[in-house]
Amino acid sequence: GNTAVTVIGLGEMGAALAGAFLKAGHSTTVWNRTASKADALVEQGAERAATAAEAAQASPVVIVCLLDYDSVHEVLDPLGDALKGRTVYNLTNGTPEQARETAKWAADLGYDYIDGGIMAVPQIIGTDHAYVLYSGSGTESFERDKPVLSAVGDARFAGTDPGLASLLDLSLLAGMYGMLGGAVQAIAMVRSEGVNAQQFSTELLIPYVTSIAGVVANLARQIDNDEYNVGISAALSMQQVGFRNIVEASRSQGVSSELLDPIQSLMDRRVADGFGSDDFSGVIELLKQNKK
Ligand code: NDP
Repeated sequence: GNTAVTVIGLGEMGAALAGAFLKAGHSTTVWNRTASKADALVEQGAERAATAAEAAQASPVVIVCLLDYDSVHEVLDPLGDALKGRTVYNLTNGTPEQARETAKWAADLGYDYIDGGIMAVPQIIGTDHAYVLYSGSGTESFERDKPVLSAVGDARFAGTDPGLASLLDLSLLAGMYGMLGGAVQAIAMVRSEGVNAQQFSTELLIPYVTSIAGVVANLARQIDNDEYNVGISAALSMQQVGFRNIVEASRSQGVSSELLDPIQSLMDRRVADGFGSDDFSGVIELLKQNKK
């Protein structure tokens, strides 16, 4: 159907979202602090709102995608009542705490608020590869708006805690940055001997990391069962010795080991604590801390 959608924030991501709504045939109203960023979208058929308040009034579904929560508050706080009766989907990256605070604030003002985390880069918005995580108390709003939201990517509802989508989003990014950090380390190591980074990546690193990714399922099962010593393919005491070789090889090749050192120290502690025959999964025990 042709549900009207508003997109507030037309950076790289917001513009991609608005483009996807337009492509799916939705009447799309757009607003951005720097108005010129709406030009290309207006050419494609978007309505330009003169103010954020006008944009909020234009559609029942209001998508917000700004830099951070400070900018969200800067834009939304002055709107007050203009959002009443609307459902705001805030896809701005932030912390669970920020999402929960904003949800409370929205409830006080009388509008539905659902927080979201976009698990995609702008280039794949609107394709099958993109998905967006949503959470918040407005389950009914989400079900109603799901066909619209699906224009940007698979719309997945994570739960009624408004902080949950953000927590999942940031957890996935933690996994991604672990991978990126590992990739940069690996490439620095081989480049120290003049190996071509692209060839190394496509022929060796990507296939290896892709094949090894499945190991995470085994770690997850061990963690869910609190049994770090079941179904082990490699004991931590063995991995610790091998890991030290990665650190030493990096250093002797003139590559810093600062990305590796924290992992080494966790493995060392875990083995020193007497869990050398467990799997790597047991390291999670050392990461547990009281909630702040
Ligand atoms: P950009 O830097 O391209 O755009 C930032 C947007 O925020 C612009 O519209 C900018 O307006 C606006 N903005 C910043 N400060 C203010 C303010 N004080 N008042 C009003 N508007 C403000 O970022 P992206 O579009 O790439 O990212 C937007 C969000 O999407 C971020 O939270 C990001 O983490 C998230 N995201 C981005 C991904 C990506 O790959 N790009 C992937 C997944 C999530 P102006 O044009 O006037 O400066």
